[in-house]
Amino acid sequence: ERHVYVFKKGTSAGRKEMKELLGGKGANLCEMARLGLNVPPGLTITTKVCQEFYKAGGKLPDGVWEDILAAVREVEAAYGAKFADPQDPLLFSVRSGAAVSMPGMMDTVLNLGLNDEVVEGLAKKRGERFAFDCYRRLLDMFGDVVLGIEHSLFEAEIHAVKESRGLKLDVELTGADLREVVRRFKAVYQKEGKELPSDPYEQMLLSINAVFGSWNTPRAVKYREINRIRGLLGTAVNVQSMVYGNLNDNSGTGVCFTRNPATGEKLLYGEYLPNAQGEDVVAGIRTPLDVKHMADNFPAAYQDLVDNTTLLERHMRDMQDCEFTVQDGVLFMLQTRNGKRTGPAALMVAVAMEKEGMVSRAEAVLMVEPRHLDQLLHPMFQGVDKPEYKKAVLGKGLPASPGAAMGRIVFTADDAEKWDKEGEKVILVRLETSPEDVGGMHAAQGILTARGGMTSHAAVVARGWGKPCVCGLDKLEVDYAAKTATLKGQVLKEGDWLALNGSSGEVLAGKQPVKPPVMSGNLAVFMEWVDSFRKIGVFTNADTPADALVARKNGAQGIGLVRTVTIRLLDPPLHEFLPHEGTPELEALCDTLATEMKGRSGQHMNAVRILKNKIHGLQESNPMLGLRGCRLGIRHPDITEMQVKAILEAAVNVSQRGIKPFPHIMVPLVGFEEELSHQPFWVSQATAILFYSFSKTAVFGGRAKGHGFLVARLPTAHKTLIRFSAPLFLDISYGSFGLSLGRTTTCSFFQEQLLAKGKRTLRGLDASVLCGWSLQERADFLTMNCAGGMVDTVGVSSVSGGIFDLSFAGKRGGRQPGAAPHPRREAPPAPCG
Ligand code: ADP
Ligand code: MG
Repeated sequence: ERHVYVFKKGTSAGRKEMKELLGGKGANLCEMARLGLNVPPGLTITTKVCQEFYKAGGKLPDGVWEDILAAVREVEAAYGAKFADPQDPLLFSVRSGAAVSMPGMMDTVLNLGLNDEVVEGLAKKRGERFAFDCYRRLLDMFGDVVLGIEHSLFEAEIHAVKESRGLKLDVELTGADLREVVRRFKAVYQKEGKELPSDPYEQMLLSINAVFGSWNTPRAVKYREINRIRGLLGTAVNVQSMVYGNLNDNSGTGVCFTRNPATGEKLLYGEYLPNAQGEDVVAGIRTPLDVKHMADNFPAAYQDLVDNTTLLERHMRDMQDCEFTVQDGVLFMLQTRNGKRTGPAALMVAVAMEKEGMVSRAEAVLMVEPRHLDQLLHPMFQGVDKPEYKKAVLGKGLPASPGAAMGRIVFTADDAEKWDKEGEKVILVRLETSPEDVGGMHAAQGILTARGGMTSHAAVVARGWGKPCVCGLDKLEVDYAAKTATLKGQVLKEGDWLALNGSSGEVLAGKQPVKPPVMSGNLAVFMEWVDSFRKIGVFTNADTPADALVARKNGAQGIGLVRTVTIRLLDPPLHEFLPHEGTPELEALCDTLATEMKGRSGQHMNAVRILKNKIHGLQESNPMLGLRGCRLGIRHPDITEMQVKAILEAAVNVSQRGIKPFPHIMVPLVGFEEELSHQPFWVSQATAILFYSFSKTAVFGGRAKGHGFLVARLPTAHKTLIRFSAPLFLDISYGSFGLSLGRTTTCSFFQEQLLAKGKRTLRGLDASVLCGWSLQERADFLTMNCAGGMVDTVGVSSVSGGIFDLSFAGKRGGRQPGAAPHPRREAPPAPCG
């Protein structure tokens, strides 16, 4: 197993698909090298080594250092100079890079390999100023990243030297000045009781260890936790030969995007600094220049940059964010990755790249994230990066519902409605909101609450209306009686102007200038593409004709919350359905239930006590912050399961009377991806269990009645474990091929068996498909459902020898037992059971 991947112009065993093993930076360095771009040669140590580094107690596992040294030899040959050679030294950078970028979490050390002797060799060969500029950078970065010496201590020294010479900029320091800087930096080391090892290899090893070590600092662990980055092995380490943007004025370093990341406009966009290295561009030491000026100052390098980035964008099939260095007029590529972008840019890039033939329509749709679209649909404050705006910010809560809102403060929903009728724009400020407040919430321009999270009543309702909302601003003190609120020491009175930025969570004093959302042509084009792929229907929750109109205009296909169409799973505060504590009704209910439970729980009194505790536990003080919506089903999956079973059994029952029901089940108030995947799990599970009821009630011809046999569950979203209590003969699709199975089998087992026989796969065989609801294109695979869309065609019967036959014999839409196969399908083979 390979620990180290070498990359050099023209070759590498690594490639862009290997991000998990090589990290994003490493994999793309390898890819750029393979593409023949001018990449300084180097090596990538795998994330696997990082994992083993921790297993070995914080050191490189056996053999890895030897592999690194062998790779260094290869790099030296490619570069044409030797590491640690005092005459003509090759220097290295050590760069971190995990599979997912973690900005600012891990570090880089440049110019490794210098010591008091080598720096003189470098000075002789390339000039004193340059050599000592590299050396002071090494001392600073190594001190900071590896030894934990405060960067500011070095800053102070360089500042002192500049001051004493009457200089403003680092680049104005002469060779002699930089010698002095180095002397002072060493004094800092001494004061801290630290030392830069003079052995270049020791420098390299310690830097590699420091980068691996940075993976599990509390800061990095916390970052991954917050950003839900899971399942990574660790960080990779890139050891790369140095090229020098600080060599002379014919050199420089920069970063660029292949398109404008703010607007999406197609042009090379970026910044560079002449005579500079690495972080200088972002560190703000000097103001960088627009990358387009490179065309005048470094024409050949600029042309290369245009060519390389164009090629990279085509190859990576996404907008790229690149880092580069020019050394004596020659361009080197140091990094490329997919660039982060704003909502409008994401849309423009996706649409443009599809038109340019660079990505397919489906890929273009996947390039835009939901939060990108969100940014486009709401009015925005102007100049959010301007000091005037920042000065007005009083506090920051949760960005519950995006957009900009402004109005005069009111503290009750009634006032909001009243003021609104009088033509005032208002912001409703509450500790929290409840359903009685909706009138006022609707009348307000925006809503601010002190309590509650992203799924609180205020947040959910506001998002539903597309109304800006900031919630959970816990520093906000509200005094309803005095009609004042206090924030950051400032007292806000009723009638004062307040502005809310629902996209950032910021709350601002006074009025702020806004701009309307830009409904660009791209959005319309894009949404049309989305419609051609989507499988989810969009139904609105609307109570009035006006709501319905807005929803339809925004693309809703209908109204989802009319109970004769759609069955909505229960989502009320449960305690409202139970008798109140201390009432005779409660006593009676507990008594009845306890009697029913007696068989299981033993003592009657005990059961009563358990029930009372349970009912007490279901009390909610503000249900709008509690178990509303799908949260009820998430907290109590058995309630979802029970309802789905009831709905489906009812469907089966009426289907036997010749009625064709087609139940839609609605999971209410879903706001997050996790909620969307959680509840259908239980719906599917219940659907599968329904099979059991078929075996007792449905069309199976009277034989082997009452044999319970099938439980299907979905342990993950895609895998289905199917357990049979007896061997089973499955009659799938059009005809009668089938399998005899043992007691336990999985979907993938089916699949292999069928594939082995050269048959179509059983992709469709999961719980929901077996019962044929909702996933029609999958169910199409089975004889049942499809045209008829109904489960009344499912049958179960036994055949001889304890083998069951699940034949999907149709009454309507499906196939009758013994009828000819569906004409669109080829006839399946004879049964093998
Ligand atoms: P980050 O992940 O913080 O961007 P990098 O590893 O990309 O850190 O390094 C930061 C910068 O250091 C690079 O953009 C580049 O300018 C400079 N750098 C890194 N390695 C080299 C090298 N081998 N030669 C020249 N400059 C380098
Ligand atoms: Mg970088």
